[in-house]
Amino acid sequence: MSPPEFQLHIAIVGAGLGGLAAAISIAQSGHRVTILEQAPELGEVGAGIQIPPNSSRILKRLGILSKVEALSVRPHEFVLRSYRDGKVLSTQPLLPYCEERYGAPYLHIHRADYHRVLVNEARRLGVAIQLNAKVTGIDFEKPEIKLADGSTLAADLVIGADGLKSVCREQLLGKKDPPKLTGDLAYRVTIPASAMLQHPSLLPLIENPAVNFWLGPSSHCVGYLLKREGGEGIYNMVLACPDNLPELVNTAKADLQEMRDFFSGWDENLRLLLGLVDDTSKWRLMNSEELASWAHPSGKFVLLGDACHATLPYLASGAAMAVEDGYLLGRLLSKIPRSAPPPAFLLPDILTIYETVRKPRTTRVVKQSSHYQQIFHMHDGPLQRERDRQLLRYQQEPYA
Ligand code: FAD
Repeated sequence: MSPPEFQLHIAIVGAGLGGLAAAISIAQSGHRVTILEQAPELGEVGAGIQIPPNSSRILKRLGILSKVEALSVRPHEFVLRSYRDGKVLSTQPLLPYCEERYGAPYLHIHRADYHRVLVNEARRLGVAIQLNAKVTGIDFEKPEIKLADGSTLAADLVIGADGLKSVCREQLLGKKDPPKLTGDLAYRVTIPASAMLQHPSLLPLIENPAVNFWLGPSSHCVGYLLKREGGEGIYNMVLACPDNLPELVNTAKADLQEMRDFFSGWDENLRLLLGLVDDTSKWRLMNSEELASWAHPSGKFVLLGDACHATLPYLASGAAMAVEDGYLLGRLLSKIPRSAPPPAFLLPDILTIYETVRKPRTTRVVKQSSHYQQIFHMHDGPLQRERDRQLLRYQQEPYA
């Protein structure tokens, strides 16, 4: 009889997109995974999410791309428009460009659908997901997790995937570390596609699915189509503008008229879209500064996703980066021989490799996203005209 295979027990704090991607990748590498999630039930807040090809390629490797694709829309192109009149400044191809160049598609999906695919796959692989499990502390040496109800959970490795306001990050730093303000907030809205059908000028937004951008002074809007299983299409919009939320309030129900007033001088089609909205909320957009390290020196704890590299969403890459982090952790942990407990140096070395590979890339994404804040939000004038000339040039040489 062959000896039983050795398994590490990995505890993940947070069942967001990053924590779940890590759980799937680690379970596929043969280790035991427990996720601790503070929420009483599983789900995702917000409506749409864009999945760029670097992220859909990971979903392909995890074996779940076809399930995600079945619930997604494939946009044909990016369309960048002037805020004033909707004039197209530039288009950049996505279909079939992304498949041809990157071997994976660009997708839009409802967050709840994306999350459900990941939860189902994690559970299918035997990942335990504990709900109502709010983590309040971590003993990094053991390692052991402390929960709000007074219970504890021991593991071989703890992964902090608890998002922007991460308790795990604060525990690692040993101090409060609120995310940084970016000066922007986002209104998030959805519009039933059926309501858009009444307006002929809005039909192209449904018939030719694209990621539409309207670029204006200090602000920009992004809109794209989503489909729900068995239901009708939804047009998802994020409208970024200067942050006027009161201190300490990061999300709030918002006044429709205030939103419409802000965009009142914009493209007629954008105003038509906002006229069809019956509910909106405001989200303060925050990001993080690069941490000195994502791992504890014990080599038994590490961060991933927004917990260590929250970013402005202007490159639609925050979740994509979290999913990449999680995938890589699983692949690295698959290198641990299963015949016996690993030597003491192995986990710390794996975490060092993980951080060495991931930190420069995610730091670049955070910085580039802030750079895009400047590019998207230019005021009318010579710089903006030069930007528009450059955008046209990119149309001729996409992704140059
Ligand atoms: P989260 O999704 O925040 O998950 C953290 C989880 O941890 C949550 O379930 C939370 O309940 C749980 N948790 C927190 N604290 C505790 C605790 N103490 N104990 C237990 N559980 C805890 N990214 C893209 O890739 N594409 C896009 O198109 C895109 N659009 C965006 C649009 C907007 C307006 C915004 C604001 C962001 C957008 N993003 C996008 C970014 C993306 O939403 C985030 O980067 C991503 O959700 C981060 O995933 P995560 O798993 O790291 O954290």
